[in-house]
Amino acid sequence: AVPAPDEPADLRGRTADGHPVALLANIGRAAELSGVAVEGVGLFRTELLFQHHIDPPTDAEQAAAYAEVFAAMPDRQVVVRTLDAGSDKPLPFLREHDEPNPALGIRGLRMARRRADILRTQIAAIAAAARESTARVCVMAPMVTTVSEAAQFAALCRDAGLPTVGVMIEVPAAAVRSAEILQVVDFLSVGTNDLSQYTFAADRRSGELADLLDPWQPALLSLIALCAAAGVAVGRPVGVCGEAAADPAFAVVLAGLGVTSLSMSPPAVGAVRAALAAYTLDECRAAAQKALAASDPAAARAAVTRC
Ligand code: PEP
Ligand code: MG
Repeated sequence: AVPAPDEPADLRGRTADGHPVALLANIGRAAELSGVAVEGVGLFRTELLFQHHIDPPTDAEQAAAYAEVFAAMPDRQVVVRTLDAGSDKPLPFLREHDEPNPALGIRGLRMARRRADILRTQIAAIAAAARESTARVCVMAPMVTTVSEAAQFAALCRDAGLPTVGVMIEVPAAAVRSAEILQVVDFLSVGTNDLSQYTFAADRRSGELADLLDPWQPALLSLIALCAAAGVAVGRPVGVCGEAAADPAFAVVLAGLGVTSLSMSPPAVGAVRAALAAYTLDECRAAAQKALAASDPAAARAAVTRC
Protein backbone atom coordinates (compact mmCIF):
# COMPACT_ATOMS: atom_id res chain seq x y z
CA ALA A 1 0.00 0.00 0.00
CA VAL A 2 1.21 3.50 -0.77
CA PRO A 3 1.68 5.42 2.50
CA ALA A 4 -0.78 8.23 3.14
CA PRO A 5 0.76 11.66 2.42
CA ASP A 6 0.68 12.69 6.08
CA GLU A 7 2.94 9.88 7.27
CA PRO A 8 6.38 11.03 8.39
CA ALA A 9 8.79 10.34 5.54
CA ASP A 10 11.42 8.74 7.79
CA LEU A 11 9.15 5.80 8.64
CA ARG A 12 8.63 4.78 5.07
CA GLY A 13 10.45 1.91 3.48
CA ARG A 14 11.97 3.03 0.20
CA THR A 15 14.57 1.85 -2.24
CA ALA A 16 17.51 4.18 -3.01
CA ASP A 17 15.50 5.62 -5.91
CA GLY A 18 12.34 6.13 -3.87
CA HIS A 19 10.22 3.08 -4.74
CA PRO A 20 7.97 2.50 -1.69
CA VAL A 21 7.91 -0.82 0.18
CA ALA A 22 5.77 -0.43 3.29
CA LEU A 23 7.45 -1.59 6.50
CA LEU A 24 4.89 -2.94 8.94
CA ALA A 25 4.83 -4.66 12.32
CA ASN A 26 3.88 -8.21 13.31
CA ILE A 27 2.21 -8.03 16.72
CA GLY A 28 0.02 -10.06 19.06
CA ARG A 29 -1.14 -7.24 21.32
CA ALA A 30 -1.20 -3.43 21.53
CA ALA A 31 1.65 -3.18 24.05
CA GLU A 32 4.09 -4.37 21.38
CA LEU A 33 3.52 -1.10 19.52
CA SER A 34 4.69 1.22 22.25
CA GLY A 35 7.68 3.27 21.13
CA VAL A 36 7.73 1.55 17.75
CA ALA A 37 8.20 3.51 14.50
CA VAL A 38 6.32 1.68 11.74
CA GLU A 39 3.99 2.60 8.92
CA GLY A 40 1.32 0.28 10.28
CA VAL A 41 0.58 -3.26 11.37
CA GLY A 42 0.89 -5.93 8.69
CA LEU A 43 -0.01 -8.90 10.87
CA PHE A 44 -2.07 -8.71 14.06
CA ARG A 45 -2.10 -12.29 15.34
CA THR A 46 -5.42 -12.19 17.21
CA GLU A 47 -5.18 -15.73 18.59
CA LEU A 48 -2.40 -14.62 20.94
CA LEU A 49 -4.94 -12.46 22.83
CA PHE A 50 -7.04 -15.45 23.71
CA GLN A 51 -4.56 -18.27 24.12
CA HIS A 52 -5.38 -18.79 27.79
CA HIS A 53 -9.16 -18.43 27.52
CA ILE A 54 -11.25 -21.42 28.50
CA ASP A 55 -14.41 -19.88 26.98
CA PRO A 56 -14.66 -18.10 23.64
CA PRO A 57 -14.06 -14.34 24.08
CA THR A 58 -17.25 -12.29 23.87
CA ASP A 59 -17.95 -9.68 21.17
CA ALA A 60 -17.31 -6.87 23.63
CA GLU A 61 -14.08 -8.39 24.94
CA GLN A 62 -12.78 -8.81 21.43
CA ALA A 63 -13.86 -5.35 20.22
CA ALA A 64 -12.04 -3.78 23.18
CA ALA A 65 -8.80 -5.66 22.39
CA TYR A 66 -8.95 -4.70 18.71
CA ALA A 67 -9.80 -1.08 19.54
CA GLU A 68 -6.65 -0.82 21.63
CA VAL A 69 -4.48 -1.74 18.65
CA PHE A 70 -6.40 0.53 16.26
CA ALA A 71 -6.03 3.44 18.71
CA ALA A 72 -2.25 3.01 18.61
CA MET A 73 -2.23 3.37 14.80
CA PRO A 74 -4.40 6.39 13.95
CA ASP A 75 -4.76 6.82 10.17
CA ARG A 76 -2.43 3.87 9.60
CA GLN A 77 -3.00 0.47 8.12
CA VAL A 78 -3.77 -2.40 10.50
CA VAL A 79 -4.15 -5.87 9.01
CA VAL A 80 -6.11 -8.01 11.44
CA ARG A 81 -5.75 -11.74 10.97
CA THR A 82 -8.72 -13.80 12.04
CA LEU A 83 -8.01 -16.56 14.56
CA ASP A 84 -5.28 -18.96 13.50
CA ALA A 85 -6.11 -21.66 16.01
CA GLY A 86 -4.87 -25.22 15.83
CA SER A 87 -1.56 -26.97 15.18
CA ASP A 88 1.25 -24.88 16.72
CA LYS A 89 -1.29 -22.36 18.15
CA PRO A 90 -3.89 -24.37 20.09
CA LEU A 91 -6.69 -22.40 21.74
CA PRO A 92 -8.35 -24.04 24.77
CA PHE A 93 -11.88 -23.05 23.67
CA LEU A 94 -11.40 -24.52 20.20
CA ARG A 95 -9.86 -27.85 21.15
CA GLU A 96 -12.73 -30.07 20.19
CA HIS A 97 -11.09 -33.23 18.92
CA ASP A 98 -7.58 -34.54 18.96
CA GLU A 99 -6.17 -34.97 15.49
CA PRO A 100 -3.32 -37.29 14.56
CA ASN A 101 -1.78 -34.66 12.29
CA PRO A 102 -2.85 -31.19 13.48
CA ALA A 103 -0.73 -29.21 11.00
CA LEU A 104 -2.71 -30.89 8.22
CA GLY A 105 -6.04 -30.71 9.98
CA ILE A 106 -8.55 -28.18 11.21
CA ARG A 107 -6.53 -25.02 11.69
CA GLY A 108 -6.80 -21.38 10.64
CA LEU A 109 -9.78 -20.62 8.42
CA ARG A 110 -10.66 -24.32 8.39
CA MET A 111 -11.97 -23.92 11.93
CA ALA A 112 -14.99 -22.17 10.40
CA ARG A 113 -16.10 -25.52 8.94
CA ARG A 114 -16.95 -26.57 12.49
CA ARG A 115 -17.45 -23.26 14.25
CA ALA A 116 -18.74 -20.68 11.77
CA ASP A 117 -20.15 -18.81 14.79
CA ILE A 118 -16.67 -18.05 16.13
CA LEU A 119 -15.52 -16.52 12.83
CA ARG A 120 -18.73 -14.49 12.46
CA THR A 121 -18.42 -13.14 16.00
CA GLN A 122 -14.83 -12.18 15.42
CA ILE A 123 -15.55 -10.39 12.14
CA ALA A 124 -18.43 -8.49 13.77
CA ALA A 125 -16.14 -7.45 16.65
CA ILE A 126 -13.41 -6.27 14.24
CA ALA A 127 -16.02 -4.29 12.27
CA ALA A 128 -17.40 -2.70 15.45
CA ALA A 129 -13.94 -1.59 16.59
CA ALA A 130 -13.06 -0.37 13.07
CA ARG A 131 -16.16 1.86 12.95
CA GLU A 132 -14.94 3.75 16.01
CA SER A 133 -11.39 4.24 14.76
CA THR A 134 -9.42 6.15 12.14
CA ALA A 135 -7.06 3.21 11.53
CA ARG A 136 -7.28 1.79 8.00
CA VAL A 137 -8.46 -1.65 9.04
CA CYS A 138 -7.96 -4.60 6.70
CA VAL A 139 -8.80 -8.17 7.55
CA MET A 140 -7.25 -11.41 6.37
CA ALA A 141 -7.67 -15.14 6.90
CA PRO A 142 -4.93 -17.65 7.70
CA MET A 143 -4.48 -21.07 6.05
CA VAL A 144 -6.57 -20.40 2.97
CA THR A 145 -6.21 -23.18 0.40
CA THR A 146 -8.69 -22.57 -2.43
CA VAL A 147 -10.27 -19.71 -4.36
CA SER A 148 -13.70 -20.61 -3.04
CA GLU A 149 -12.50 -20.41 0.57
CA ALA A 150 -11.08 -16.96 -0.20
CA ALA A 151 -14.35 -15.86 -1.87
CA GLN A 152 -16.48 -17.07 1.04
CA PHE A 153 -14.27 -15.29 3.55
CA ALA A 154 -14.34 -12.07 1.52
CA ALA A 155 -18.15 -12.16 1.29
CA LEU A 156 -18.46 -12.65 5.05
CA CYS A 157 -16.18 -9.68 5.77
CA ARG A 158 -17.73 -7.35 3.21
CA ASP A 159 -21.24 -8.18 4.44
CA ALA A 160 -20.10 -7.18 7.92
CA GLY A 161 -18.86 -3.79 6.68
CA LEU A 162 -15.16 -4.59 6.29
CA PRO A 163 -14.41 -3.70 2.66
CA THR A 164 -10.67 -4.45 2.44
CA VAL A 165 -10.14 -8.19 2.58
CA GLY A 166 -7.11 -10.35 1.96
CA VAL A 167 -5.84 -13.84 2.56
CA MET A 168 -2.57 -15.31 3.69
CA ILE A 169 -0.66 -17.46 1.27
CA GLU A 170 0.68 -20.27 3.43
CA VAL A 171 -0.34 -23.35 1.46
CA PRO A 172 1.35 -24.17 -1.87
CA ALA A 173 -2.06 -24.76 -3.51
CA ALA A 174 -2.98 -21.15 -2.77
CA ALA A 175 0.36 -19.83 -4.06
CA VAL A 176 -0.10 -21.73 -7.31
CA ARG A 177 -3.56 -20.17 -7.72
CA SER A 178 -2.64 -16.72 -6.38
CA ALA A 179 -3.74 -14.92 -9.56
CA GLU A 180 -7.20 -16.49 -9.31
CA ILE A 181 -7.38 -15.71 -5.57
CA LEU A 182 -6.57 -12.07 -6.34
CA GLN A 183 -9.72 -11.93 -8.44
CA VAL A 184 -11.79 -12.32 -5.27
CA VAL A 185 -9.74 -10.49 -2.60
CA ASP A 186 -7.99 -7.11 -2.38
CA PHE A 187 -4.55 -8.23 -1.24
CA LEU A 188 -2.35 -11.21 -0.38
CA SER A 189 0.10 -11.66 2.47
CA VAL A 190 2.63 -14.46 2.12
CA GLY A 191 3.30 -16.28 5.40
CA THR A 192 6.71 -17.76 4.76
CA ASN A 193 6.79 -19.71 8.04
CA ASP A 194 3.91 -21.94 7.04
CA LEU A 195 4.53 -21.74 3.29
CA SER A 196 7.99 -23.24 3.95
CA GLN A 197 6.54 -25.90 6.23
CA TYR A 198 3.98 -27.03 3.68
CA THR A 199 6.16 -26.67 0.58
CA PHE A 200 9.03 -28.68 2.01
CA ALA A 201 6.91 -31.09 4.09
CA ALA A 202 9.06 -30.06 7.07
CA ASP A 203 7.65 -29.24 10.50
CA ARG A 204 8.31 -25.51 11.06
CA ARG A 205 9.55 -26.25 14.60
CA SER A 206 12.10 -28.85 13.54
CA GLY A 207 15.67 -27.67 14.07
CA GLU A 208 16.92 -30.79 12.34
CA LEU A 209 15.22 -29.71 9.10
CA ALA A 210 16.36 -26.07 9.27
CA ASP A 211 18.13 -26.38 5.91
CA LEU A 212 14.81 -27.21 4.23
CA LEU A 213 13.06 -24.38 6.07
CA ASP A 214 15.62 -21.83 4.88
CA PRO A 215 13.62 -19.06 3.14
CA TRP A 216 16.35 -18.77 0.50
CA GLN A 217 15.39 -22.19 -0.85
CA PRO A 218 14.75 -21.67 -4.58
CA ALA A 219 11.37 -23.45 -4.47
CA LEU A 220 10.09 -21.04 -1.84
CA LEU A 221 11.40 -18.09 -3.84
CA SER A 222 9.61 -19.40 -6.94
CA LEU A 223 6.29 -19.53 -5.08
CA ILE A 224 6.73 -16.03 -3.65
CA ALA A 225 7.67 -14.78 -7.13
CA LEU A 226 4.45 -16.26 -8.52
CA CYS A 227 2.35 -14.44 -5.90
CA ALA A 228 4.18 -11.14 -6.36
CA ALA A 229 3.79 -11.32 -10.15
CA ALA A 230 0.07 -12.01 -9.73
CA GLY A 231 -0.19 -8.84 -7.66
CA VAL A 232 1.85 -6.73 -10.08
CA ALA A 233 -0.33 -7.93 -12.99
CA VAL A 234 -3.53 -6.56 -11.45
CA GLY A 235 -2.06 -3.75 -9.34
CA ARG A 236 -3.03 -5.30 -6.00
CA PRO A 237 -0.76 -5.40 -2.95
CA VAL A 238 1.17 -8.56 -2.12
CA GLY A 239 3.06 -8.44 1.16
CA VAL A 240 5.25 -10.87 3.07
CA CYS A 241 4.64 -11.29 6.79
CA GLY A 242 6.65 -14.42 7.70
CA GLU A 243 9.93 -14.22 9.61
CA ALA A 244 11.86 -14.11 6.34
CA ALA A 245 10.74 -10.50 5.78
CA ALA A 246 13.05 -9.51 8.66
CA ASP A 247 16.20 -10.65 6.80
CA PRO A 248 17.57 -7.44 5.22
CA ALA A 249 19.07 -9.19 2.19
CA PHE A 250 15.91 -11.23 1.65
CA ALA A 251 13.88 -8.01 1.86
CA VAL A 252 15.90 -6.63 -1.08
CA VAL A 253 15.02 -9.72 -3.12
CA LEU A 254 11.36 -9.46 -2.13
CA ALA A 255 11.24 -5.82 -3.23
CA GLY A 256 12.78 -6.89 -6.54
CA LEU A 257 10.10 -9.55 -7.00
CA GLY A 258 7.40 -6.87 -6.70
CA VAL A 259 6.35 -7.40 -3.08
CA THR A 260 4.67 -4.20 -1.83
CA SER A 261 5.01 -4.53 1.95
CA LEU A 262 7.13 -6.35 4.51
CA SER A 263 5.82 -7.09 7.97
CA MET A 264 8.10 -8.22 10.76
CA SER A 265 8.70 -8.06 14.48
CA PRO A 266 9.26 -4.37 15.29
CA PRO A 267 12.96 -4.56 16.30
CA ALA A 268 13.85 -5.82 12.80
CA VAL A 269 12.42 -2.83 10.94
CA GLY A 270 15.44 -0.51 11.16
CA ALA A 271 17.88 -2.92 9.49
CA VAL A 272 15.41 -3.73 6.71
CA ARG A 273 14.77 -0.03 6.08
CA ALA A 274 18.53 0.57 5.79
CA ALA A 275 19.00 -2.36 3.39
CA LEU A 276 16.23 -1.21 1.05
CA ALA A 277 17.64 2.32 1.04
CA ALA A 278 20.96 0.96 -0.24
CA TYR A 279 19.55 -0.47 -3.51
CA THR A 280 17.67 0.99 -6.44
CA LEU A 281 14.60 -0.85 -7.63
CA ASP A 282 16.52 -2.08 -10.69
CA GLU A 283 19.26 -3.46 -8.42
CA CYS A 284 16.60 -5.19 -6.31
CA ARG A 285 15.15 -6.71 -9.48
CA ALA A 286 18.57 -7.90 -10.62
CA ALA A 287 19.22 -9.46 -7.19
CA ALA A 288 15.81 -11.16 -7.33
CA GLN A 289 16.51 -12.65 -10.75
CA LYS A 290 19.90 -13.95 -9.59
CA ALA A 291 18.38 -15.44 -6.44
CA LEU A 292 15.63 -17.13 -8.47
CA ALA A 293 18.20 -18.61 -10.83
CA ALA A 294 20.37 -19.97 -8.00
CA SER A 295 20.52 -23.70 -7.45
CA ASP A 296 20.62 -23.64 -3.65
CA PRO A 297 20.12 -21.29 -0.68
CA ALA A 298 23.81 -20.34 -0.37
CA ALA A 299 24.01 -19.31 -4.01
CA ALA A 300 20.74 -17.38 -3.70
CA ARG A 301 22.09 -15.48 -0.66
CA ALA A 302 25.24 -14.62 -2.57
CA ALA A 303 23.07 -12.79 -5.12
CA VAL A 304 22.71 -9.98 -2.57
CA THR A 305 26.13 -8.94 -1.43
CA ARG A 306 25.83 -5.48 0.12
CA CYS A 307 23.55 -6.27 3.12
C1 PEP B 1 3.50 -17.51 8.68
O1 PEP B 1 3.05 -18.66 8.70
O2 PEP B 1 4.50 -17.16 8.01
C2 PEP B 1 2.88 -16.46 9.50
C3 PEP B 1 3.27 -15.20 9.40
O3 PEP B 1 1.92 -16.84 10.39
P1 PEP B 1 2.26 -17.59 11.78
O4 PEP B 1 3.74 -17.54 11.98
O5 PEP B 1 1.49 -16.85 12.80
O6 PEP B 1 1.73 -18.96 11.52
MG1 MG C 1 1.14 -19.11 9.54
